[in-house]
Amino acid sequence: MSYVQKVLDNLKKTNPNEPEFHQAATEILTSLEPMVNAHPEYEQAALLERFVEPERVVMFRVPWVDDNGKVQVNKGYRVQFNSAIGPYKGGLRFHPSVNLSIIKFLGLEQILKNSLTGLPIGGGKGGSDFNPKGKSDREVMAFCQSFMTELYRHIGADTDVPAGDIGVGGREIGFLFGQYKRIRDEHVGVLTGRGLSYGGSLARKEATGYGLVYITEEALKMRGDSFEGKTVVISGSGNVAIYACEKAQSLGAKVVAMYDSNGYIYDPAGIQLDVVKDIKEVKRGRIKEYADRVKGAKYTEGCQGIWTIPCDIALPCATQNEINKESAEILVKNGVKFVGEGANMPSTLDAIEVFQKAGVVFLPAKAANAGGVATSALEMAQSSGRLFWSFEEVDAKLKNIMVNIYHNMDNAAKKYGFEGNYVMGANIAGFEKVAEAMMAHGVV
Ligand code: NDP
Repeated sequence: MSYVQKVLDNLKKTNPNEPEFHQAATEILTSLEPMVNAHPEYEQAALLERFVEPERVVMFRVPWVDDNGKVQVNKGYRVQFNSAIGPYKGGLRFHPSVNLSIIKFLGLEQILKNSLTGLPIGGGKGGSDFNPKGKSDREVMAFCQSFMTELYRHIGADTDVPAGDIGVGGREIGFLFGQYKRIRDEHVGVLTGRGLSYGGSLARKEATGYGLVYITEEALKMRGDSFEGKTVVISGSGNVAIYACEKAQSLGAKVVAMYDSNGYIYDPAGIQLDVVKDIKEVKRGRIKEYADRVKGAKYTEGCQGIWTIPCDIALPCATQNEINKESAEILVKNGVKFVGEGANMPSTLDAIEVFQKAGVVFLPAKAANAGGVATSALEMAQSSGRLFWSFEEVDAKLKNIMVNIYHNMDNAAKKYGFEGNYVMGANIAGFEKVAEAMMAHGVV
């Protein structure tokens, strides 16, 4: 049995009931196999066993009082996965589906994603099963303050720097930062995605969506093509989806569909993004309203149907496992040529296989959505240097990082004889630096 297979078998045995973690580890480790085989010293050093074991897992109780005076209790998590190349870095997710398996899959992915950006950041992830949807601002604040009252002792500007993710946007980061500052009496870059008035970076809000489009644009460019005139389907209507839509439209693409967790809108004339922003960012409403406001648009209950809409480019930007094998087959049948993952692990393993077999250019999440964390690292650099860069400066750096990521993963795939397999290329390119640093640090 190969070294990789042994590590995977043991991981599944010793971490039972963690299907998302198993899925991410399987995708990563199997694609690292050619590289690991070329480095027999890794097995002697138990490098993979250490790589898949978080350095630290913190789980805690988060009690808070709702608007009816009733005490509520949620679970809080922070997984500090790997600090070989820099302080732990990765978002916080507030969603009822959050559990240890999901946080660990996200944390493991984050290690390689952060390495791929070329910036000195390690991997971590955290969150809670708290659902901000439908809560008042006061309830969200009460929850965030309680969450930070425990989390503050584990994080720091040079130790661990959380950011947003699903359910954690500007409002939540503000409440979390306020409580950290109050407890620690320190105004430091301990969270990214902060508001511009208290240390945030211009272009951070746009970064993940823009970055996704920049890397897809580079993949198109390398094939003599562009976004101009392409039909695009984007799932989700949150932070990543909205700014992916904005950038794709500015490059001449027609985005025809988006969704939230209730259902999807199809607008053959092209999505009017100002309406989506008003519904989702201003009113925190449901995407269904779009069809009431825009003539010719249609709303359909349920999410999966979005992948039956013919498109040239699909950008899944909502959540994990939103494209399964069947949806992938329909997309291929309808002529999709590029799939760029804005969300983390939106495609199941068998969906990825369908895309790769069909010759679809598949840009995996850890490369395609790395623009968010890359810009977070730029926010950290501005914080520690007491600097404030213009939107154009940050955006130019972001674009440069995404173009580099594309070529790094392309080269890594070629180096091991798997040209065009970006899952493999991204995993190997990300792992090379982490492995080198871990080997240099000795047995830690
Ligand atoms: P948001 O909370 O802003 O938006 C999430 C969107 O996805 C919403 O439209 C939400 O719908 C929808 N959604 C969430 N869960 C489900 C579900 N189970 N089924 C269907 N739709 C769902 O999150 P982000 O845009 O920040 O994050 C989206 C994805 O991108 C996540 O996978 C995240 O990990 C990843 N990501 C985010 C980064 C960032 O900078 N924000 C960086 C890198 C990756 P509804 O409104 O109904 O809940």
